[in-house]
Amino acid sequence: MLCKLQICKCFKLNCKFSLSGVTVYPQNNNGISNYSRGVLNDDIGNSNYIITSTTRTPAKQVDVMYNNISKYGVNAQKELYGTYGDQVIDMYPNKPLMLSKVNSVGPSRVSKHCGNPRIINVIDISPNSIRNRPAFERRVRADSRVSRFYTPPADPAYHLEIPQPQ
Ligand SMILES: [Zn+2]
Repeated sequence: MLCKLQICKCFKLNCKFSLSGVTVYPQNNNGISNYSRGVLNDDIGNSNYIITSTTRTPAKQVDVMYNNISKYGVNAQKELYGTYGDQVIDMYPNKPLMLSKVNSVGPSRVSKHCGNPRIINVIDISPNSIRNRPAFERRVRADSRVSRFYTPPADPAYHLEIPQPQ
């Protein structure tokens, strides 16, 4: 189910998603598997939170990188991304060139957000939407189901990578 706001509130099992650019996998609950939802519920507890991004198309990935470079600068983004992402950042501010670079190096090498959500579910959560940030960060770091966790200021969002049971 989609709602009209750009960012929508999420309450436990009743998740709604951004209209702008999130790839919708109906068979996968709009980008978040039941397994991942269970992980989030355990780590966040019984409170509201906002999911700002899940799976991205290559074009959406370029939009995100472009906006973050404009806001935070090239160096901050290069710290966040790896070799392949850096090659995309080098094409800034030319969006068409950024997109062709994403496609030529392989979208999932640039960002796990562009990968297959049935293998790794990648979820960004708005830090401002988490009531007790230190407790949340502690729980995620101790949660072996989360393979990678980026936090502000390195990443503007809480970025969680959750490998899916195969
Ligand atoms: Zn992310």
